[in-house]
Amino acid sequence: MGLELEMQLKFCSWPVEAKFNPGCDMYNKIIVANDLSKGSQKLVDAALRLAGNEFHRLHLIHVVEPIAAAYNRGVFAVQAKKLTLEVVIQAKQRLQLVGSQLGIENHRIHIVLGTPATEIRNLANKIAADAIVIGSHGHSGWDVLLGSTASRVLNSVSCDVLTVRINE
Ligand code: AMP
Repeated sequence: MGLELEMQLKFCSWPVEAKFNPGCDMYNKIIVANDLSKGSQKLVDAALRLAGNEFHRLHLIHVVEPIAAAYNRGVFAVQAKKLTLEVVIQAKQRLQLVGSQLGIENHRIHIVLGTPATEIRNLANKIAADAIVIGSHGHSGWDVLLGSTASRVLNSVSCDVLTVRINE
């Protein structure tokens, strides 16, 4: 309920009973699924609008998919692990930079290894998210209507999902 309506109800001459529950209509925990592509700034902007510019409501997640070794043995497996670790370190630096520009604390910045849709869902369950902001298409852009990650997330979580159109 807006302040103006609340004031009108307070000062009107006939008895009015209105239940006002501040904050109940707000999204308090919003996950931004950030694939670190150029278009992801649009997601952050949309999430901030949803959060009424209160950046402390946002959680940023980037999922690093483990690099598969062509020959998953011996030296190849070690190299794949090393490469994955390097990607994790770089992704962490990049996401923390995005976070620090917005004033988001590090404990709300999540770098996870795995499959994007699965890990986004896991985080949503873990923190009991109210909403997820995700791009309609990311890097892969295979699906015509919704990116595969967006449609998988939409079908696997119980919270609201805002898909943001990204045209890179
Ligand atoms: P895609 O399935 O690649 O078309 O991606 C659609 C959207 O899913 C992106 O715009 C991101 O919001 C999200 N997404 C995809 N991959 C990742 C990832 N590795 N980490 C976090 N979010 C991702």
